[in-house]
Amino acid sequence: MSEKWITGVDLGGTTIKLAFINLNGEIVEKWEIATDNSDMGKNITTDIAKAIEDKLADLKQDKSKLVGIGMGAPGPVDYETGVILNVVNLGWEDNFPLQAQLQEVISLPVAIENDANCAALGEMWNGAGKGAKDLVCVTLGTGVGGGVIANGNIVQGINGAAGEIGHITSIPVGGAPCNCGKTGCLETIASATGIVRIAGKQLAEGQATGELAEIFAKNGKVTAKDVFDAARIGDETAKKVMDEVSFHLGFALANIGNTLNPQKIVLGGGVSRAGDILINAVKENFAKYAFSAVRDSTEISVATLGNDAGVIGAAWLIKNKLNL
Ligand SMILES: [Zn+2]
Repeated sequence: MSEKWITGVDLGGTTIKLAFINLNGEIVEKWEIATDNSDMGKNITTDIAKAIEDKLADLKQDKSKLVGIGMGAPGPVDYETGVILNVVNLGWEDNFPLQAQLQEVISLPVAIENDANCAALGEMWNGAGKGAKDLVCVTLGTGVGGGVIANGNIVQGINGAAGEIGHITSIPVGGAPCNCGKTGCLETIASATGIVRIAGKQLAEGQATGELAEIFAKNGKVTAKDVFDAARIGDETAKKVMDEVSFHLGFALANIGNTLNPQKIVLGGGVSRAGDILINAVKENFAKYAFSAVRDSTEISVATLGNDAGVIGAAWLIKNKLNL
């Protein structure tokens, strides 16, 4: 029998990433299409089905090559029913029956999970968490996403909202407002947006000198990457920003570690590309606040799959569902 493929889909507000993935979790082909969220998102499922059929035709393959489709979607998902509970940037109404709709247009089995959970599953299957059955994945991007895997299974919680690590309260009083409606969430500090905000606040006071202050004076803003680059060459303002970020991240991860004692905590997303300047400081804070047995056994590492984690983890969903 020739090799079968799974389609992994990572549904985002602006692009939809797709990939054909073999049963070993390796990408055979990947591509992306734009997300059409007009008309309350009514074209999204047919666009995905068409993208898959067109790509199969390009590769001179038949639909029988595919065993199913796994998809990661933003927002809380009811994994059992494949219903997206609520999502703001795709145009869909609350409780959108994504799995049923996609199955109908493509006539293949479909499984759906929250996108941050898919990233965690991807890293578990074929990335930094390979071989680990207890794993926490934290995606540090524009926001902060999280996925918790215990004994090989995603922890969903009663309302699909488990693993919302970005909304752990880091600053109980007087924190910055978060997209979720609370204030002081980890996401307001350890996301790219949070880093830019903290740096901007320090630089706006006008006392700072050095590399980062010069970029700010020239452009009126700094990026998260500017902060990392400046910290690496010893810029005092950038170092202060990194200290604040790594303290809160290390502190939150230590408490997650104390709760779950996972084999690995994997950090992914654009912010994790800051590399050692961030990771080493996070590890120091983690070691300071973690229970001794956790400190000795839970390892912090950087994700290895990059932007592919979502599609690979999505593919794992259907492989797992079909017992392949
Ligand atoms: Zn929040």
